[in-house]
Amino acid sequence: TSFQIQVQASYPTFQIAKSNSWSASDKAKLICEYQDMMKRHGEGSYSRVLKTGSGTKGVVVDKQTGKEQESIIWSTNLYLGLNRDPEIIASACSAIDTYGSGMGTSAAASGVTDIHLEFETAFAELVGKESACLFPTGYTANVGVVAGLLGENDVVVIDQLSHASIVDGARLCGAEVRTFKHNSAQDLASVLKAVVSPYRTVLVVIEGVYSMGEGAAPVAEIVQTAKQHGALVLVDEAHSFGFYGDKGAGICAAQGISHEADFIMTTLSKAMGSLGGVVACSREHAELLKASARAYIFQASVSPADIAAALAALRRLSHDADLRQRLWDTTRYMRRRFQDAGYDLGTGDGPIVTPHFKDKDKLFTIVDELFKQGIQTSAVTYPIVESGRGRLRFICSAAHTREDVDKTLEALIEAEKLADLKMYETDNRVK
Ligand code: PMP
Repeated sequence: TSFQIQVQASYPTFQIAKSNSWSASDKAKLICEYQDMMKRHGEGSYSRVLKTGSGTKGVVVDKQTGKEQESIIWSTNLYLGLNRDPEIIASACSAIDTYGSGMGTSAAASGVTDIHLEFETAFAELVGKESACLFPTGYTANVGVVAGLLGENDVVVIDQLSHASIVDGARLCGAEVRTFKHNSAQDLASVLKAVVSPYRTVLVVIEGVYSMGEGAAPVAEIVQTAKQHGALVLVDEAHSFGFYGDKGAGICAAQGISHEADFIMTTLSKAMGSLGGVVACSREHAELLKASARAYIFQASVSPADIAAALAALRRLSHDADLRQRLWDTTRYMRRRFQDAGYDLGTGDGPIVTPHFKDKDKLFTIVDELFKQGIQTSAVTYPIVESGRGRLRFICSAAHTREDVDKTLEALIEAEKLADLKMYETDNRVK
């Protein structure tokens, strides 16, 4: 097929790499960075196992050394901590008793129970849409929707920092693929001017919040621009559903454009603490997706335990304002303490807190030192950020406490001192 990512000349190459449109030199650079990381720091986060499962605290095991460490865990997207909530867990257990452990077939081939349908209805209602379509994961929801809606004659226009699932949906559907500058409604308008035609469907895909520690995207502006040009819009709320907007309904609700956005998608694996993906839209579009999205038709549907947990989580998050408030309190506290200590957190204000580092080697040493001190976090490097640089990523949850934040900051300051010392010793040995 004629898959093409249009790249603005001014954009750095790491963003091209993230779009999966690899040139030979991008590939070589990525492999070199990966091998270099392995050589210097072992498997690092690739070798860490959450022995006691996901949560804000638990035992993390380093497979390489066999070392077990009681840790505060900041590396998962369980924003509301609901995967450990007794009521949610009881709902999942009860669903296994009633419906068994797996559905054994796709939703299109009778792999649905009343709770699957109840979840679709409840999600659609919360985000202000007529209907919804449930997928087995967030990843396959994006792939399913984009590839289910578009064909060879159509156009998909995506933000240059789109998640891989959006890029893969765009690649798979066979439509012409265009990108626009990150969060730029103006650039989107100029791309749309060139592609809109009454003879083809144009779909714009954006995320409500991007996962590298920025704040909310200018969703209202982008959605309105898309609508002015007659395009459909899909908003991925993976990192915003559950804690932005009235009742946690997400960024579209917060920015008052739920009706204009044609498709509102989220994953069940983050704020809802389960597994699955869902997209809310008009009844007509939901019917179209259920008839055309291969990820819906040819993939086993969400298990009863997962959908029961997600349904209980959905009800909880929409009614429990205190839960959402706890997440925001911890987020603001963490950002303030880290900034006061001199860390550059970029422009964001959300629960993904990302101290920036100019030197990625120092960053990996810090991650190792933090692990030794019982802090589990992850390092983000090329191709997600520019080559040579890096960020730590602390993802706040409603279940983290101020004490967790204080301990983590203390450990980070100590880990950075140790990393500086190690680098100084290494430099002097080389000389
Ligand atoms: N969209 C975005 C923006 C994401 O960050 C993710 C997961 N990281 C997904 C979709 C896919 O969701 P899931 O992991 O539940 O498949």
